[in-house]
Amino acid sequence: MIKRFYHFINGQSVPSKSGEWINSINPATGEVWAQIPRGNRADVDFAVEAAFKASQQTNWRDNSVNRSEILHGIAEQLDNEHDQLIEIEINDNGKRIREVAAQIAGLSGWYRHFALALTKLEVEELNLDLEGVSAHLELIPYGVIGAITAWNSPLMIAAWKVAPALAAGNAVIIKPSEMASASTVLFAELLADVVPNGLLNVVTGYGDEVGSAIVDADAVKKVSFTGSEVGGSKVAATAAKHVKPSTLELGGKSPQIVFADADLDSAINGVMSGIFLSNGQSCVAGSRLIIHGKIRRAFVERLKEKLSRLNFGSPLQEDTDVGPIANKAQYHKILSMLDRAKKEGAIITFGGSNKNVPGFEGGYFIEPTILENVSPSSEIWRQEVFGPVLCVHSFVNKEEAINLANDTDYGLAAGIWTTDEAFGNEIASKIDAGTVYINHYRSVSACAPVGGIKKSGYGRELGPNAIRDFMQEKVVWNGKLAVPDPFAK
Ligand code: NDP
Repeated sequence: MIKRFYHFINGQSVPSKSGEWINSINPATGEVWAQIPRGNRADVDFAVEAAFKASQQTNWRDNSVNRSEILHGIAEQLDNEHDQLIEIEINDNGKRIREVAAQIAGLSGWYRHFALALTKLEVEELNLDLEGVSAHLELIPYGVIGAITAWNSPLMIAAWKVAPALAAGNAVIIKPSEMASASTVLFAELLADVVPNGLLNVVTGYGDEVGSAIVDADAVKKVSFTGSEVGGSKVAATAAKHVKPSTLELGGKSPQIVFADADLDSAINGVMSGIFLSNGQSCVAGSRLIIHGKIRRAFVERLKEKLSRLNFGSPLQEDTDVGPIANKAQYHKILSMLDRAKKEGAIITFGGSNKNVPGFEGGYFIEPTILENVSPSSEIWRQEVFGPVLCVHSFVNKEEAINLANDTDYGLAAGIWTTDEAFGNEIASKIDAGTVYINHYRSVSACAPVGGIKKSGYGRELGPNAIRDFMQEKVVWNGKLAVPDPFAK
């Protein structure tokens, strides 16, 4: 039976005012499993009005103790109910259960972190270089925040925005990807008795209908966006028109640089996890292997041997190593990029095709793929695939490795593999990326900022300033001396 989900606005599940629905396809089967409302501007206006009203409640805006308790309440409810979210998210985006279960079990941790962090926000007395005055800095919430998320990890991406935005005293409207909205809707519904009405709203639908209407709404004062470079630049343009800030977490073409002295077992596992663990559908996917020529052949052979042992199957099964690509559009995009890569001279040395998985004939499966003989000027080396495709290029010295790594429009993440710690840090200092990992890959923590440079976006999520990023600074001056007549002669 096809399940229906609804918008969640002002504490209620509501259909779209248009009455229209969007089919949600299970990528493991290619079949419709659910429907979500096709929202429009009228639904967004309704959510914005509710969010604005809720954001102005003094018991929310000015009461950090209450906010902290509510965030702890969210964490507790997630701990109690998170099992319900797992299968729904997998039905939508086809990610393997081992990965989704870990992400969803970890959700409460993000909310708890910010529940605690918000209790440490203080009015700051400023050290002035002036006499006769004092000043202090207050932090005030924006009011309503628009949170636009991608389909690869909907609830984790939402947590990175929602938890600090609520901690800061805002109300939030989330627009999940229309490819994977169900878990975000259920998440909000599960919190109906925990979060006061209007503070957490979800409006589903298309980016250029619902997403753009959220960014365009006057009462939405800041937008936090995770998605593609194309979507991000549209969001930033609309936000700029209204002189409102946006944070953009966009794509990447992250290098994994392996030096000849690397611990090869560790490096092979790190490179595999960087690109193949989530089928390459991770913003930090380590999609370019830049490896010392001396170890390249052996490294690639061992990688191929490990990949040949992976088994394809249902993402809901614990022992599946490779699930489907998240949606049909992405599946076709990856296959057509592989076709063009071959035409540009790349040689497929592992995988390279779609995969027929018995029992899942309608599913969007693609083999983990290794490409060699890849030109650094080719599309496959330069553009994000967001799929299980690793391009390999060798280097002879560190300068060449650094140049290859930095010769990209993106700058989200990079990996460095060497047993020489000082050398690893020296290379890290020369890599243009928001995050550099040495001898491991893909860690995230609420304490470490995430974000990109160059076309990977701007602004940061998480880290020590995460809550402040959803607040504005206000300086309050206090005169201590009588004010003299400014025109006294
Ligand atoms: P998209 O840019 O296509 O979509 C992202 C979100 O933006 C979706 O909810 C989408 O809605 C919405 N959207 C699209 N156009 C607009 C618009 N004009 N105005 C407002 N909202 C809009 O990205 P994908 O969903 O395809 O996600 C994959 C991309 O996300 C990859 O590039 C990946 O690297 C990046 N990403 C970055 C991360 C990071 O932290 N840096 C983390 C995860 C992913 P709809 O889908 O309904 O059209």
